[in-house]
Amino acid sequence: NRMVAPEYSPDDEETENPLRPRHLADYIGQEKVKSNLAVFIEAALQRQETLDHVLLYGPPGLGKTTLAGIIANELGVNLRVTSGPAIERPGDLAAILTNLNQGDVLFIDEVHRLPRTVEEILYPAMEDYSIDIITGKGQMAASYHLPLPKFTLVGATTRAGQLSAPLRDRFGVVLRLEMYSPQELAQIVTRSAKILGIAIDADGALEIASRSRGTPRIANRMLKRVRDFAQVSSDDGVINYNTAKLGLDRMEVDELGLDANDRRLLTTMIRYYNGGPVGLETLAAAIGEEAVTLEDVYEPYLMQIGFLARTPRGRVATKAAYCHLGLKPPGEDVP
Ligand code: ADP
Repeated sequence: NRMVAPEYSPDDEETENPLRPRHLADYIGQEKVKSNLAVFIEAALQRQETLDHVLLYGPPGLGKTTLAGIIANELGVNLRVTSGPAIERPGDLAAILTNLNQGDVLFIDEVHRLPRTVEEILYPAMEDYSIDIITGKGQMAASYHLPLPKFTLVGATTRAGQLSAPLRDRFGVVLRLEMYSPQELAQIVTRSAKILGIAIDADGALEIASRSRGTPRIANRMLKRVRDFAQVSSDDGVINYNTAKLGLDRMEVDELGLDANDRRLLTTMIRYYNGGPVGLETLAAAIGEEAVTLEDVYEPYLMQIGFLARTPRGRVATKAAYCHLGLKPPGEDVP
């Protein structure tokens, strides 16, 4: 249960929905994505057509679900939310599709995890707004051709590379979400604080923002935790630079948003493997984690900030990582 994990955790539930912007204008950052979407939405509305299918991709917690809600809201249609792993059989998808209203938005999170059999009935649904269902077996088998209401599929994935080519090709609009800058995250924190009735000043918001690893979900989570520190340790209860710093230091999240786990990983690489290259499996065993956890949870952010590199011979801690940990990079200790 890491404070800095970008994935959804049940602790986020209470605030996740109230904090979601409902209009494109309130969605902070992602300027390119927003301006493109605004045009596509406006054009669809003017022509009174359904919006083309949209694929959103990027790391967890950057606002894909939020954007799906905004698209539906701006189009003035209903949003139906589901996820790849939740749709187990073709019949499950058929039930969802036949219950949509004309123009509705169907949001499928983790769309790369749809079972193959389900994916196959999604193709004609996306292309021709119809599905063919086969019931019974052998001589009793019968095929039904079912027309569907026109709908917009919004698919989200953290791994565009894992999407099958035929599925990817059926999305007319493909948008990639980027990590947010500290300034954008500070705006998100300030907005969230207002909604939750938390007092925060600009420096406090920026301090939380700087440590949130480019991810709104983490920023909102930190805001809630720092609030407790401000309440207990400052006279006026306002989150300012000092209370934000105090709270986050206590939670062992440093200035760059690294937590104790990240530092342990880097320190292990440096102390025991001379900074690498060290193989993934070896490294995972050394810190007592699964290799996939290392790849999916630890590495993305460390690579993003240039602290860790993947090479053909294994993982390497970069010079920047040594400096951040206050250690001398190899080669520099020679007089
Ligand atoms: P994803 O689906 O990509 O994992 P979410 O859409 O669930 O991410 O976003 C996580 C949280 O971050 C939400 O509670 C939302 O309020 C907030 N959030 C994400 N993007 C933005 C944004 N651009 N502006 C304001 N809040 C945002």
